[in-house]
Amino acid sequence: MAKSLKFKDAISLSSRPPFHNTTLMMAFAGCVILVMHFKGYELMENFGWYILVASVSHHLQDAQRRGLWLWPFATKPINFPNYLILSYIFPLAIGSLLKILNKNIIKVKYHDVLLV
Ligand SMILES: [Zn+2]
Repeated sequence: MAKSLKFKDAISLSSRPPFHNTTLMMAFAGCVILVMHFKGYELMENFGWYILVASVSHHLQDAQRRGLWLWPFATKPINFPNYLILSYIFPLAIGSLLKILNKNIIKVKYHDVLLV
């Protein structure tokens, strides 16, 4: 997007890169989770959860400057205390959801750990 290798150009973009669309990344992660769940690929399903938590955490960090891009809407920039609270609660909420869904992604098989 910046068409440059300079850090200053990368942080002063006039528009957001397409993968900073939170709706797009949540939809992508949701599709990965659902498709891999129904195909029975538990390890790849876990990657979907990782993509979701990682992208939302990054978007929350970026939202301090430009707000969240929840297409077709956008929020106002979030302040630092709200960023801290949301970035703490979101992974916990996903972890709790996985526990409710009885997905224990910590206890994967030995060969799965090697692949990750
Ligand atoms: Zn970013």
